[in-house]
Amino acid sequence: MSDTTNRKSIPNRRAVLKGMVGGALGANLTAQQADASTFQSPYKPKDNISRVPRLIWKLERPKPALPYSYFWTWDHSTNWMLDDPGMLNFGCSNAYLKNPETYVEDYRRLTDLSAGLGVKGILIWGFLRDEHGGVDFGKRVADYAASKGVAIKPGVGTNAYGGIYYRGNHKYNIQTFTAKYPEASRVTKNGVRLRGGTCPTSPIFVEWLQEGLQWLFREFNVGGANLENGDFVVCHCPRCKELHASWKKGEPAFWMHQYYGYNTALGAIDNQLADKFVTWATY
Ligand SMILES: [Zn+2]
Repeated sequence: MSDTTNRKSIPNRRAVLKGMVGGALGANLTAQQADASTFQSPYKPKDNISRVPRLIWKLERPKPALPYSYFWTWDHSTNWMLDDPGMLNFGCSNAYLKNPETYVEDYRRLTDLSAGLGVKGILIWGFLRDEHGGVDFGKRVADYAASKGVAIKPGVGTNAYGGIYYRGNHKYNIQTFTAKYPEASRVTKNGVRLRGGTCPTSPIFVEWLQEGLQWLFREFNVGGANLENGDFVVCHCPRCKELHASWKKGEPAFWMHQYYGYNTALGAIDNQLADKFVTWATY
């Protein structure tokens, strides 16, 4: 009994901290409110409809420091709709837990921010997924960005990382592809074929990757792409081993695999490279 009484009269650590946070927020709000009376917004509305400035993501600057820059994003943790319970703010390759509509709205807002700042592109890992509307919602994201002059750059896994359609039952998803053509999958040192990774010298894989990239560029209003090969992956099938034996000595084996992945992909969109914003990761 006396213990309970003491707890009531002596504030515990959590209550003290809570009070401090509340106090800090209160002080901050008061300062902001004071500023608001004298603050002159640089935002000049163009018409009556846009009279309410979207201050958070509608930022502008006179001239970007770099002629080409882009945001590197994951779909699952690009959060501009802050009331979606599926938000994540960590990790990579996560599941997408938000509402499908949130995907479109998150990137609509990020597009507005990019356009205002003169950022040329938005790279999206997870651009196409069954969980957020697949092809239809991907088109909506790409169309809106294109209308604002911002290049959507889907992350494309050339030998891993989902392929062209990041996750779902789609012919250009790498898991779907290797399930149908196990002979095109990557072979480990112990001779095991892996689903989710491909052999970069397999003729079926070459055809699939090139066809898939051409489909991506034809079907969607994308402004480019970003290629990743799967970090340090190496295929140990007899064909790759034989090819690597004639490769320049002293170079790590994954460089050869990177070359075959990227060269195959770039060859498929060669005639569009002058107009598209295409980048790739080097390991
Ligand atoms: Zn191989």
